[in-house]
Order: sequence, then C-alpha cells, then structure tokens
Amino acid sequence: MIKEIREPLIFEISEAGKRAAELPALDVPAKKDLLAGVPLRGELEGFPEVSETEITRHFTRLSQKNYCVDMGIYPLGSCTMKYNPKINERLSAHPAFAGSHPLAADDLVQGNLEVLKKLEDCLCEIAGMDAFTLQPAAGAHGELTGMMLIRAALEARGNARKHVLIPDSAHGTNPSSAHICGYTVKEIKSNESGTIDLASLEAAMTDDVAALMVTNPNTLGVFESDICRIAEIVHAKGGLVYMDGANMNALTGIVRPGDMGVDVMHINLHKTFSTPHGGGGPGSGPVGVKKELVPFLPVPVIVEKGGRFALDFDRPGTIGRVRAYFGNFSVVIRALCYILTLGPKGVREIAEFAVLNANYIRKSLEGDYHLKYATASMHECVFSDKYQKEFGVTNLDIAKRLIDYGVHPPTMSFPLIVHGALMIEPTETESRRDIDHFIDAMKAIAKEARENPDILHAAPHITYVSRLDEVAAAKFPVLRWEKKA
Ligand SMILES: *Cc1c(COP(=O)(O)O)cnc(C)c1O
Repeated sequence: MIKEIREPLIFEISEAGKRAAELPALDVPAKKDLLAGVPLRGELEGFPEVSETEITRHFTRLSQKNYCVDMGIYPLGSCTMKYNPKINERLSAHPAFAGSHPLAADDLVQGNLEVLKKLEDCLCEIAGMDAFTLQPAAGAHGELTGMMLIRAALEARGNARKHVLIPDSAHGTNPSSAHICGYTVKEIKSNESGTIDLASLEAAMTDDVAALMVTNPNTLGVFESDICRIAEIVHAKGGLVYMDGANMNALTGIVRPGDMGVDVMHINLHKTFSTPHGGGGPGSGPVGVKKELVPFLPVPVIVEKGGRFALDFDRPGTIGRVRAYFGNFSVVIRALCYILTLGPKGVREIAEFAVLNANYIRKSLEGDYHLKYATASMHECVFSDKYQKEFGVTNLDIAKRLIDYGVHPPTMSFPLIVHGALMIEPTETESRRDIDHFIDAMKAIAKEARENPDILHAAPHITYVSRLDEVAAAKFPVLRWEKKA
C-alpha cells in the first residue's frame, strides 16, 4: 500500500473533453427526443470527464485502500464474514438468472421458482421448521416479519398480548423489531455463565407476554443449553419462541432450532450461507415457522403441483407481502449453491470448523486477554481490554493496531454486557495459517501494550489516514462534491 499518495476525487482529475471510450461516428440521423426529459451526460454540470486509464487506476487504487475478505481474515464477531466461493458468484450472475424479469409469468421462470422452493426445503431440513419464506431482505427484516407472524397468530387465537421478553445480550435489532410491531420490550438478565437466567424468565413470563426473542448461540458465543426448558416455560404461558438464527453458523447439521421448541426464526443467508456482505450489500433473512404460523406467511407462497411451480396468492390469513418480487434472489442462488456444493456432511462441517476455530483462538489468547465468561465458545469468543486498560490501552487501540498487522479488527464494544469487548468470529473458512497469523498479531499487541503503549495510541500507522473522527463521519457525511469557485 502506498501511503503517501492521496487519491483525488474523480471530480478533481476531470478535464473537459476527456473520454474513456471512443465510438465510431454516427452514420444515421441523430434522434435526441428518444431520451426526452432524461438528464444526459453532456448536460450534467460537473460530470467528471476522464480517460480509461484514469478511471481504471482511480477505482483500482481506491479498492486497494480497502480491506476485504478476499485479502485475509475478517474476524468481525456477530457478522460471520466468511470467504465466499467464487463459483457461487459465477452461478448467481449467470445470464439465465440475472437476465430474467421479476414480472415474468410463472411458466417462463420455472427454474427460478425451483431454486426458491429448493432453498426453502433445504432450510426447513437444516432448521427443523415446517415452512420458510425467502422474502425478507436482511436479518432485521426477518425479525420484523417474524414478529408480525407472531402477532397475527396470537390475534387469531384471540389476544395479541403486550410484551416481548429479550435477554440483555441480544443484538440491538431484536428490541427494535419487537417495538416496531407494537410490543413493549422487557429485558431478561443473563446469569454468570452468560445465558438466560431461568428464574428471571419464569418470573417475567406472564399471560401478557407474546413471545421470547432468543439468540442461540447468543451474542457472547454461548449456547443456551437450557433452550428446551426455556421453550417449555414460554409455551406453558401461551407465548411463542422467536429465535434469532443469525448465528446459525454454529449449529448447522448438528442441532435444529425446530427440535428445540422454537416456533419462528430467521436465518441470515448473507452470514451463514455465503454472500459477500458489509458496506450495505444485499442480504437475505428468510423466516422459518412451525405449522401454526404457516397460514400467516407473506404472499406469494411458492407451491409445487405435479412438477410445476406456481405462486399462490390466495392466503386469507397472510400478513401480506414484505418485499417486492422474490426477495434478494441472487443471495438465494448463492445460498443454494453453498448448501448443494457442501452436501449434508459439509453443512455439518460448517458448524464443526466454525466452533473449532473460535475455541482455538479463545484458548490461544486466554492468557493475554481477559475473558469475562468462562463458558466454552461456540462460533465466536468475546474478550475484553481489562488487562490492557492497566497500561492505558483500550479495545479501540487494539483494534486499530491490528490493521498494521494486516488484519481486519474484530467487533468492538458489543455485546454491551462486556465492557471494552473484542468480539472475535473467525468462521469456518479460515486456515490454521491465517488464524495463527491473527493470534500472533494479538499476542504482539498485548506485548506492545505492556512495553510500548504509545505505538498503540497512534495506530494505525500504515494507512493513508490514521484515526478518523467517526462521529463526524456518521453525522456530517459529505455526499456531494461542490465545485470550488
Ligand atoms: C447480524 C445480526 C442481526 C441483523 O442482521 P442484518 O442482516 O444485519 O439485519 C440480528 N441478530 C444477530 C444476532 C446478528 O448477528
């Protein structure tokens, strides 16, 4: 990486008359009114004009200032930033898929419908649920859809109820989703092993409670081993169990939420089943339900009759559509490719390797970094900066210093119940070699904290800019280039 060169904005290198492409002279009469009302390039004030070399180098240099999962380990806890096999990209970009029109008649897109139905079937098998909808566009959208389904099912029973119980270790989207659905959120405290405290749950589980939203394994990377008992407590009072399945990476092929008493759940395809994500890229948060909730699923539902696929809109109980067309179809294609390529044994190995890798990191670093919860990890482990704080070094300093070692920082300061958290999730796609590099970097940083903390306070040292004002960047983004007079 060349640190010294500041990459100018594309507008700054613009020079009037430059073009990246040269077209032959027009040999038919010009017909400008075809695009009447559409702003044309030549008419847009300040539209950048650059050569092909300039545009190629500009974007290539920008891309090199970035870190991506194709460059190295990206251990962002709770995000499951796994490597995405290129074959999945090739297949999802296949012209037969990419070129098909979302409004095409069912008869013309039988293959697409088959892909959707096949993935629904695979997810039912993996999660132990009775049906899935692939419409939700992300995990949080899946949560909202799931909560709407719970409300609809409880209304059909005669009472939608008032509250939703959520553990204090939950992802922030959980309380938001319940709240948007008109429920008040009641927090359940975690016990010293980082799991739901059964006595607190029992006390909070009244006839007014619609559901418990539980993440399993939770955001501490700890499996809720009392999950069956938890489901019994909730069901005994007529409530439903929602499972945030964004951490499904730890469970695939080993246990099934449906067998543990879960009534509704979502899976993040863009985490567990291989889709590049981050930076706001497309996601998919399919929602799985047990039989009682099937009548309320979003329309259309894909049905198979005698080898033909059709869209069923005639569902009187439906909560309606939650997303245009078929959700994010290209993510669905990648997920199906990943599952079919791996097969049942490989799907189980996702979880086996994800858990093995996280525990390898946990064990290797437990002498150097503080662990608040001693419970064994599933797919991620959560350290804190407690030991480094003694030398005035925080989790931010550690995260920033990792960049100098060529590693993406882990998730910081989440979950909230671990002060100064460093949440590390290696995923199943990392090799021993890359994980060892990460461990070595973390150990070197722990040593620097003891011996030379100043180097950490000023990190990163190898990037074009070092510490950014993240608050200003979020609050006052510069989204428009203004030509200086
Ligand atoms: C990522 C995640 C979500 C939210 O998923 P999005 O696709 O980002 O909306 C919800 N819960 C947990 C536990 C997660 O890790």
